[in-house]
Amino acid sequence: MRFVELGRQHHEIEANVNKAIQAVLQHGQFILGPEVTTLEDRLCDFIGVKYAVTVANGTDAITISLMALGIGHGAAVFVPAFTFFATAEAVSIAGATPIFVDVDESTFNIDVRSLEKAIENVSALGFLTPKAVIAVDLFGRPADYAALIPVINKFRLHLIEDAAQSFGAKSDGQLACNFGDIAATSFFPSKPLGCYGDGGAIFTNDANLARECRSIRVHGSGENKYRNLRIGMNSRLDTIQAAVLLVKLAILPDELSARDRLARYYSKCLGEEFHVPVLPKNLQSAWAQYTVRPKNRPREECLTQLQRVAIPYGIFYETPLHLQPAFSHLGYSSGDLPNSENLSRQVFSLPMHPYIKHDERERIVAALLD
Ligand SMILES: *Cc1c(COP(=O)(O)O)cnc(C)c1O
Repeated sequence: MRFVELGRQHHEIEANVNKAIQAVLQHGQFILGPEVTTLEDRLCDFIGVKYAVTVANGTDAITISLMALGIGHGAAVFVPAFTFFATAEAVSIAGATPIFVDVDESTFNIDVRSLEKAIENVSALGFLTPKAVIAVDLFGRPADYAALIPVINKFRLHLIEDAAQSFGAKSDGQLACNFGDIAATSFFPSKPLGCYGDGGAIFTNDANLARECRSIRVHGSGENKYRNLRIGMNSRLDTIQAAVLLVKLAILPDELSARDRLARYYSKCLGEEFHVPVLPKNLQSAWAQYTVRPKNRPREECLTQLQRVAIPYGIFYETPLHLQPAFSHLGYSSGDLPNSENLSRQVFSLPMHPYIKHDERERIVAALLD
């Protein structure tokens, strides 16, 4: 058994992927070829957003979003401490300073009260200017935008949605990648919508921001490719990856349903002994991960049980970002963000993908309840 079975997915779509890649090899427009434009159009239709700008990876998607908003040196950007490193790394790459915020213990997403406190602290200190919040839709579950948006408005901040794990998720009828001023996603192979290499995309309804992002991904160029208006990056999605994504986007709705079925099965079987993800009616997760916390025993015991019968698992994330060595210069210490620290010690994730077999999911549950 593997944690994610990309091979089984490829088996389903092999003929179409081969055809799509062959078409690119024939026309030879490997950079910003026609498939890139087609994919951007399809992404807009799928998400229900005006502009989609594909880029080289999800980390660049966040960095470019920050650059397009004019966020850099001297700016404070509020980021949950319990997320993948890249969320905060992008802030530093853009030249701004990440300020870590605690998360809610049951949703794993940014906690609004902790956010308000952090904004007030930064304002009182006066060294940095609060500019933006990056809300992460962790493990595929949209952040609590209804609670976040009034705070964002009160302090006049920008909202960036890190939707790297939530492509296809929904909140109040709206798809993820649709919240805030601008949203970023990743097409890393194991994400809900993945390509065969690195890839990412930015989404916005703001024509100016979309134009900025398009310029930044090609060295800050203007209408003329060799006239550069600003310092940008080299961050384009390869045409071959766009061709693969067009094939995969077509099967995504069925895959999301399969992930949802697996999550329901896990929750039904494991709910007594584990804190399992509980979603209110208005939320649909993209189930990038299915993550639990044992109720009455240490994580290590559960992991040993899984190891004994060779069932793979993941730990996302073992180190909260405020305690990462790379951010030690920011001066955080243990105890600063207790929920993030507790979750890092308690959570683990089970195999979650659309191609699981019935006997596999039964074996996983049996191993945990043994
Ligand atoms: C994967 C991920 C990213 C970065 O995406 P890459 O394509 O790997 O650069 C950013 N944020 C979160 C929450 C992620 O899970």
